[in-house]
Amino acid sequence: MKQFLVRLTARSGREAGGAVEFRGSGVSFARAVEKKLLRAQVTSVEQLLALNERELRSLPDIGPVTVSSVIATLAEAGLSLAADPYEAYECARHSDVARDAELRSYFLCNSCRDAYAQLAFGARSPEWVSSERVEGYCGHCNELRVVRLSQWFLCGTCDRVVRSLGRGLASAKFVESVWADTFRGTSELSLRETDPVELRPRGRRSDVDRVSTADFVADDASGKAVLGIELKSGRSALAGDGIGNTMPQFQLDTTDCDDITAAAITLNVPVFLVHAQVIGRAHAPTERYEGVGLWFARPWDMLQHLEAVRRRPRETRDAAYFKTAMFRPFAEFPAYMKDQFWADFESMRRDGFPLLYQR
Ligand SMILES: [Zn+2]
Ligand SMILES: [Zn+2]
Repeated sequence: MKQFLVRLTARSGREAGGAVEFRGSGVSFARAVEKKLLRAQVTSVEQLLALNERELRSLPDIGPVTVSSVIATLAEAGLSLAADPYEAYECARHSDVARDAELRSYFLCNSCRDAYAQLAFGARSPEWVSSERVEGYCGHCNELRVVRLSQWFLCGTCDRVVRSLGRGLASAKFVESVWADTFRGTSELSLRETDPVELRPRGRRSDVDRVSTADFVADDASGKAVLGIELKSGRSALAGDGIGNTMPQFQLDTTDCDDITAAAITLNVPVFLVHAQVIGRAHAPTERYEGVGLWFARPWDMLQHLEAVRRRPRETRDAAYFKTAMFRPFAEFPAYMKDQFWADFESMRRDGFPLLYQR
């Protein structure tokens, strides 16, 4: 054993005189680590330092405990394993290495690029920003501006989340404008956004704000809440409005259903599920989001249109699958408000908010 240590120190010119001694839980563990390295034909410190962590781990009989012991021992001697040219990148949003983290590209205006860095990626500036200034639509604020291609390392999940924010912002603006057009001169109801789309790092949202409010609240002339809206946006249409084929089923995470119920109870008013169809239109090389269809579902109609509750494919979340017939074009909302809403409102006061799904 001593010989091995001597041999390791003697052959390495890089150590500052310190012996590389494998420690772990006691001498026997240290010996076991040495033996494993020797058996894997690693007989000198130089040879060890030429390996990266992935290569070391791939040697026969070398497990994660041995690897971390080797790394810790080398670190004590001021040494480290070689850098891995195929090391996984760290996702800028969830701040951990991820095998599927790669350079993701976004066309962003200057203020949205700063907001991404400051609010979503822990002040990490982009890995790369194009020097070319393009007149096009910002992928976040959806405004026609001078934009530049900006890249960060992101995992697939975080990339999808970040991309959905621009669509979500466009969708919220679309709802506000449809609401204004639909109710112009006919209603005292004013819409306010209560849960705006925000850039934030993963997990930086307390469960408390999560359940307490809907996306929008409509107030009467005295400022009293009358109803809430939970907005979902997607690329597909439903019957009676929108562009292209209608989706066969509407899936909603059961946690989203629970959020609607929780918001209705907190606000003590009915909360309606609203679906906005938001599609991308090319303004090469950028894309503009455009809202082209809007529908609402009356909460009392949801349970009777429930087809199944099951696990989403490849995910750990449960979703409720509804027949799309529960939705009506939003153009019918003023008539519904006039003819049926107040009776529904009374029934909620009397019997509570209806069940939206059941297993
Ligand atoms: Zn922008
Ligand atoms: Zn991530």
